[in-house]
Amino acid sequence: MNRRNIVKSLALMPLAAYPTLSHSRDKTQNSHGLDQSEADYSNVKIRKVRAIITAPQNIELVVVKVETDQPGLYGIGCATFRQRAHSVVSAINDYLDDFCRGKDVNNIEDIWQTAYVSSYWRNGPVLNNALSGLDQALWDIKGKIAGMPVYQLLGGKCRFAVDTYTHASGPTPEAVVEDVQKYMEQGFRNVRIQLGGYGSTHLSKEPAYKRYQFGSPDDNTLDANAYISGTVKMFDLVRQKIGNEVELLHDVHERMQPMDAINLIKQLEQYRPFFVEDPFSPENNGWFELLRKQTSVPIAMGELFNSPHEWIDPMSKRWFDFIRIHISQIGGITPAMKVARLGEWYNVRTAWHGPGDVSPVGHAANAHIDLAVWNFGIQEAPRFNEALLEVFPGSPTVKDGFMFVNEKPGLGIDINEELAKKYPAPKFDYNWTQLRKNDGTPVRP
Ligand code: MG
Repeated sequence: MNRRNIVKSLALMPLAAYPTLSHSRDKTQNSHGLDQSEADYSNVKIRKVRAIITAPQNIELVVVKVETDQPGLYGIGCATFRQRAHSVVSAINDYLDDFCRGKDVNNIEDIWQTAYVSSYWRNGPVLNNALSGLDQALWDIKGKIAGMPVYQLLGGKCRFAVDTYTHASGPTPEAVVEDVQKYMEQGFRNVRIQLGGYGSTHLSKEPAYKRYQFGSPDDNTLDANAYISGTVKMFDLVRQKIGNEVELLHDVHERMQPMDAINLIKQLEQYRPFFVEDPFSPENNGWFELLRKQTSVPIAMGELFNSPHEWIDPMSKRWFDFIRIHISQIGGITPAMKVARLGEWYNVRTAWHGPGDVSPVGHAANAHIDLAVWNFGIQEAPRFNEALLEVFPGSPTVKDGFMFVNEKPGLGIDINEELAKKYPAPKFDYNWTQLRKNDGTPVRP
């Protein structure tokens, strides 16, 4: 028996005992169409790594495609860092492609570890997103070779579907109540409530800095007192009108001074929030210890984290209850699984960041991890428009407030590259990160 046949027979042996398994390799082709009886997938070489940029929902999305030397075998992964999308494209096309060519797709951990240090300096958002696109594409390929969805490779299902929360908002507490009711009618049991946009800037009066022509004319203004009192009123009215049957979440979006955030959270305690998210900017991690001593409100943190130095210490000190990293911002499924496992031992649950600037491929990766890890907490639900669903066939679906993935091997999702070209990246809008206090001081998200 030659090496190729030994590999084949070993791969077939355990599954042959369970012929009813839907993922059985006891077929000529698996459901991805890969020929399992003749081909040897023990050493599949990377032929090319390339970035695809598209914006079907008018949000820049970057997806990596890893092509292999096996006909029809490729993988895709999310590398979306909307705010510097073109820099990520360069990191992929100008560096990772060259670095990866000829490597064996089977060795995900080895490729991740060597690519991670290939720039020497590391843990920044541009390089981590490029790495994530590569990493997720390799997991997609591994699933296709195995004939299994990625969640099976991560340990199998720990729950039947992924419980999610959606976003309700409005300019007034009354409008927020109506929005919450709308989503509850759609089956959502968990709703994030926000009074307007980030920092409720519509509540701010004309700021002094604009009278003195300081800053840019489009800059937003944060009035922390107006935001805090408005948010408390919103929680109060939602609980009065809707009662306790809905879980309420809230995102501070990091923009408060630490003591303002702590005061807000103490006032919200009586309304039993499911969690309050991102009370501090990542530079203020050290304030969590004080927050923890002041309130029992569950805290979610971490969408701006990029480096292990930002989460290892706070998680191991149990300073927050939910870790809500943006998975492509730390380098993909491989490091996210390590974060999830770390959290298991400290009872820190996952709540991965899942807004519109995660591609449907990234949402699929979120969902596959959500299904498999014991300490899953909750998932921010995606909202896909029709154009996005056409460009990304096989995207996860949301029904009754739960997210589902399909049973196709890999991440179960593809990209229609011809259609993707119809939606070029728009000019980036800097405005939403530009926020000032009354005197013009820039506020950090
Ligand atoms: Mg957030």
